[in-house]
Amino acid sequence: MKFQRLRVLGFKSFVEPMEFVIEDGLTGIVGPNGCGKSNLVEALRWVMGENSYKNMRASGMDDVIFSGSLNRPARNTAEVTLFLDNSDRTAPSGYNDSDTLEVTRRIEREAGSVYKINGKDARARDVQLLFADASTGARSPAMVRQGQIGELISSKPTSRRKILEEAAGISGLHSRRKEAEIR
Ligand code: ATP
Ligand code: MG
Repeated sequence: MKFQRLRVLGFKSFVEPMEFVIEDGLTGIVGPNGCGKSNLVEALRWVMGENSYKNMRASGMDDVIFSGSLNRPARNTAEVTLFLDNSDRTAPSGYNDSDTLEVTRRIEREAGSVYKINGKDARARDVQLLFADASTGARSPAMVRQGQIGELISSKPTSRRKILEEAAGISGLHSRRKEAEIR
């Protein structure tokens, strides 16, 4: 399963419908400061079910909706769709009957988010699990936020260890051990 295309509409600075093709191999996003490079990566995290507005550099989830500019009014909805290539049929079970997978998240001001997988209503949890089962997702250590490397270098040893454990994939084991100890 591979990321194929990302469609954004009304998300942060992307007021016009835009579609970004994610080719095989390395993809670079280049542009001047403030042009929306980080917003684009945030759109990718958001559609995979990110539920912390702080991780979207926002003060509420509605802040991801285009807030207007000098010559354009604000919008009331934002929508991001991620198209995944599943021609190798490696999607997690339950999603393996088509060559492409389409995951959409849409937010309406003061009404929260709704999700769709291949056009059918889904819960945030379904979307998060779909990506977690494919070893990726909004919180995957493979998604490195701007400034995160600096944070890693200057953080306390205990929080640095947490990040490294997350990257090594053993943080789940720790939480299961804690659960067992409580019992
Ligand atoms: P840098 O090179 O400095 O990291 P960047 O290309 O990563 O810049 P972003 O941080 O993605 O830039 O984009 C910042 C721009 O997005 C700002 O101009 C900001 O006003 C705009 N922006 C953020 N949220 C919204 C919103 N809800 N509506 C409209 N514009 C927004
Ligand atoms: Mg940036």
